[in-house]
Amino acid sequence: MRQSHLFTKTRKDAPKDEVSKNAILLTRAGFIHKEMAGVYTMLPLGLRVLSKIESSIRRHMDQIGNELLMTALSPKETWETTGRIETVDVLMKTLPANKVSEEKSSASYILGSTHEEMITPIAQEYTRSYKDLPVSFYQIQTKFRNEARAKSGLLRGREFRMKDLYSFHKDEDDLKTYYEIAKKSYLDIFREIGLGDDTFITLAGGGDFTKDFSHEFQTLCEAGEDTIYLDRKNNIAYNKEVVTDENAQKLGIDFTAFEQVKACEVGNIFPLNTKFSKAFDYTYTDENGDKKDVYMGCYGIGPTRLMGVIVEKYADDKGLIWPESIAPFSIHLLTLSKDKSGESYEKAEQLYKNLTDAHVEVLFDDREESAGAKFADSDLIGIPMRVVVSDKSLASGGVEIKERKSEKSEIVTIEQLLTMYTKEC
Ligand code: ATP
Ligand code: MG
Repeated sequence: MRQSHLFTKTRKDAPKDEVSKNAILLTRAGFIHKEMAGVYTMLPLGLRVLSKIESSIRRHMDQIGNELLMTALSPKETWETTGRIETVDVLMKTLPANKVSEEKSSASYILGSTHEEMITPIAQEYTRSYKDLPVSFYQIQTKFRNEARAKSGLLRGREFRMKDLYSFHKDEDDLKTYYEIAKKSYLDIFREIGLGDDTFITLAGGGDFTKDFSHEFQTLCEAGEDTIYLDRKNNIAYNKEVVTDENAQKLGIDFTAFEQVKACEVGNIFPLNTKFSKAFDYTYTDENGDKKDVYMGCYGIGPTRLMGVIVEKYADDKGLIWPESIAPFSIHLLTLSKDKSGESYEKAEQLYKNLTDAHVEVLFDDREESAGAKFADSDLIGIPMRVVVSDKSLASGGVEIKERKSEKSEIVTIEQLLTMYTKEC
């Protein structure tokens, strides 16, 4: 893509109403646009990153589930069936515009904050025999929660993206087997998007759902809202909320030997067991014709929160730094020539063409800006590799390449650069 065609502009000043590093940098670099607290538009650069995160999640989820897309609006009656209309404090309730003067309690619709209430009746309709189980469904969708504190940019949105997966099983053992498969799939996803080394499976409370522990995927991050007790050597972590004298005794654990670290929850999986199937009276017929309870699990990941966490962890004082697997582009190509008929401009154009023909994703800074402004923007936007074509680089034998995360630059020939990026093609 040509940068001259990108309608967004970078800005030097931090937005006045933002306090979080991720919202400040993503706004300055033109990735997101704030609509109100906790509600952001994904601008073209931001959407490219979000889409990559979601594609990675989708690739892994397709191995273990069927993708569908549920509605964001749901009837309040299904939430009355489970009682969660009263207990989920972040639930957003809406009225059609012609009824806004009515009492709050008469809300007609619920904006989905999570989808157990919708998926359980769907599974119930299509899978009623032992022959149909196990089955699992997932979606990647926008969720709504009336979060009290929405000051952390993408880390805590009132409107945000979630991948939610739900699985249905004949018995608890089958749920447990699948649960372990989902866990592994989650770890593969976090590794692929660049958070593998710092993301730990963490035992946490069951929240709204279950008396058992749930499993959170916590990424070490100073801006995170959670504290976890971590034993790196044995790869075990506990959310502070479950570090109690009672649990220490029950589990025989000496929590004082653990490291306490700040972390952000990027994923959460729950063995729901029969909570929702019982609420909806969802049973299946087994091999002997008997009716049995369906066991259920749910598994969530937050793509927008992940984007925020990656910014918080990797950005430096010059700007964003994207891991290659989710970067908006692989190469930021800069021409420093303002003379469009000069040799160095033509070489940059040719290189842009050759790279894009080879399906390498390139942002080509073809704008008539000063070299200083282009370098500053390049650091702010954070594409993993910067390639500069200038009279000076050509005189030194080629183009100057520099990884965003490193201080070192070097000159390579245009042929070498093309080989580096096109060898897999
Ligand atoms: P938290 O404890 O941070 O409020 P949660 O436990 O309520 O999160 P879940 O219901 O488990 O969240 O949602 C699954 C995933 O969706 C979370 O692990 C997180 O990645 C993401 N998520 C949840 N709430 C938000 C939010 N307000 N903004 C962005 N992402 C979110
Ligand atoms: Mg959670």
